[in-house]
Amino acid sequence: MSRLIDVENLTLQFDTDEGRITAVDDVSFSLEAGEVMGLVGESGSGKSVTAKSLMKLNPRNAVYGPDTKITLHLDDGPVDVMSLQNDTEMKIVRGGAISLIFQEPMASFAPAISIGEQMVEQLMIHTSFSKAQAKEVSVEMLDRVGISDPSTRFGQYAFELSGGMRQRAMIAMALSTKPRLLIADEPTTALDVTIQAQVIDLMKDLVSEFGMGIIFITHDLGVIAQTADKVAVMYLGKLVEQGTVRDVIRRPAHPYTRGLLAALPTLDDIDAPLTPIPGDIPSPLERPSGCVYHTRCQEVMGPRCAAEVPRFSRVDSDHAAACHLHDPQGDAS
Ligand code: SF4
Ligand code: MG
Repeated sequence: MSRLIDVENLTLQFDTDEGRITAVDDVSFSLEAGEVMGLVGESGSGKSVTAKSLMKLNPRNAVYGPDTKITLHLDDGPVDVMSLQNDTEMKIVRGGAISLIFQEPMASFAPAISIGEQMVEQLMIHTSFSKAQAKEVSVEMLDRVGISDPSTRFGQYAFELSGGMRQRAMIAMALSTKPRLLIADEPTTALDVTIQAQVIDLMKDLVSEFGMGIIFITHDLGVIAQTADKVAVMYLGKLVEQGTVRDVIRRPAHPYTRGLLAALPTLDDIDAPLTPIPGDIPSPLERPSGCVYHTRCQEVMGPRCAAEVPRFSRVDSDHAAACHLHDPQGDAS
């Protein structure tokens, strides 16, 4: 496998009337080609903002931290995303090297333009295809994602397709430009369970076929267990745990991850009570000091948790957590 993206010290703040809000706080991770990374956390944890900031798709009041570094490793060499200045330069990234799919496919399609026309338009922006070639590729992609009678669907509008079919069409559009990285933001949340399983299978097939990387954003650790190779868990804009799916799900090292897992139903013991994490995610305007999770943590260790920001400690070769439980000495060491 080859390295696809390095995200180092990603920090993003928003200037608001109430002051500067930290949405993403010093997040670092990497992804290889052909790898699926699940980005998990409750809503409001900063998952979507993190994903969008990789493509600089932020609102105007967003400010990157000065140490933020995002490097995309493309065939022609590394691209320093932070140094790309304008929309023309960003085209390498947006819809080119990186594609984004959302939870609600209606939002990705313009209502008054046919699915096919939108696919062709996108291909003509990002590739050197002629209109005829772009049409051919679009129909082929619709077929590839399992839409029957793709030539007819090509001429239809988003509202004429069922929910599952729209999701597939959106994936077809996102993949037609052969992105190196696909960011899927809660792509299956609005779908029923059968279609959800089909979409997940489809995405897995496409990873092995095209060798792309996927960042799969979800609040559902169960979906991650089926889909991803590795997991990054976010809470209030911070990464709190990273590791292989196996390690994180079998031996969660951060109390927050343990909390998320305890809130999941298990097949072995379907009658076992689910224990939701007590309390709500705090407002970003009132970020807790020290460990951002200390106001809800069930394993809080006393004053140190509220005073000192925990650093990432390795708990296994490919597994790390930012919690004082795993760094007993801390700054004293
Ligand atoms: Fe809980 Fe303390 Fe670990 Fe934070 S650092 S997760 S408050 S034990
Ligand atoms: Mg979101």
